[in-house]
Amino acid sequence: MSLLPYLPFARPTLDEDTIAGVAEVLRSGWITTGPQVKNFEAALSHYLDGRPVRALNSATSALEVALQLCGIGPGAEVITPSQTFFAAPNMIAKVGATPVFVDVELISRNLDFDAVERAITPHTRAIMPTHFAGLPVDMDRLYAIARQHRLRVIEDAALAIGSSWRGRRIGSFGDLTVFSFHPNKNMTAIEGGALVVNDATEAREVEMLRFHGITRLSDGARDVTFPGGKFNLPDVNARIGSGQLARLDAFNARRRELVAEYFRLFPTTPSCLLPHPGYPGDEAGHSWNLFAPLLPLDRMTIDRQQFRAALEARGIGTGISYEAAHLTTLFRRYGHHEGELPNTERIARETVTLPLFPAMTYADVERVCQAVGEVLADGSLQ
Ligand SMILES: *Cc1c(COP(=O)(O)O)cnc(C)c1O
Repeated sequence: MSLLPYLPFARPTLDEDTIAGVAEVLRSGWITTGPQVKNFEAALSHYLDGRPVRALNSATSALEVALQLCGIGPGAEVITPSQTFFAAPNMIAKVGATPVFVDVELISRNLDFDAVERAITPHTRAIMPTHFAGLPVDMDRLYAIARQHRLRVIEDAALAIGSSWRGRRIGSFGDLTVFSFHPNKNMTAIEGGALVVNDATEAREVEMLRFHGITRLSDGARDVTFPGGKFNLPDVNARIGSGQLARLDAFNARRRELVAEYFRLFPTTPSCLLPHPGYPGDEAGHSWNLFAPLLPLDRMTIDRQQFRAALEARGIGTGISYEAAHLTTLFRRYGHHEGELPNTERIARETVTLPLFPAMTYADVERVCQAVGEVLADGSLQ
């Protein structure tokens, strides 16, 4: 229907230097974990003020390894938002612990820390917050609560590489931090993830957890002390990650420019609930992985599915970030039900993710805003 090229909601930006670099790795004779992973880990560590970083094959793997690193298993409770990607609650369940779902704030969509404090029990071992869309959670409050109750923190920063809190990058301070390099994130390795840890001992533990639990004996033979996973990142992917990291700050600056245009041009009737614009005076701390307004469904004659189909027909892709994890079939089996987490459930019903990626133009943003305005005008009560 649209004569304009299709506009997906996310698209990676890969440059020719990176593509040539990948070809070099492919020709080198060493394509799985090796020197490129070492380079990538060093570059990430440099970007994060020297903290130890280990690369893995996904953020989901990194979350699982982080939980194992903390010794979290059966009997433990881990506080997490339900308004997040399935990976965090899934991995908590996979290691045998219990996810304790806490509601988020409606606008920031980050954990409500008053509710976090109420959810702490003698079984709580960790808090696993998500920095939604690249907006950091209140890091001062998070770590004050963690210190007071002696809890580990595993930050799901899959959407927040390059974000900062009061001038300090997410991952450059705190406890454990997980990043994702999936193609929809702010930088990619096709697939990939990273885990930022506190010291060399934890880094060695991660190396074992990500690779079969193997240690080297002094005679050169190998030993296994626990059943580790197989979560290593190949060198081909690491080479892409290094090429992307070099451009990350520029990508994120471009995302902020595009979002400013979204805020300037977004249709006002009927009005969507727009995302949190970033903390006053610290707007550059938001890395804007997603631009996801909430639809005014109570004033619309079409539902979200029809809204998305109408944009799709205009050549504009959309997504949903996120469904409510506590209402999945999996976590209903844990006894969860509608009505537990009002903000989470409202966001899950009303959210729609609009196109945002660094290669977009201002004309693309204008096209999306115009299409949203038309679809809402056709499909609303007034
Ligand atoms: C994408 C994402 C993940 C999972 O990342 P993978 O690298 O695909 O495993 C986890 N948490 C959040 C918040 C995400 O957006």
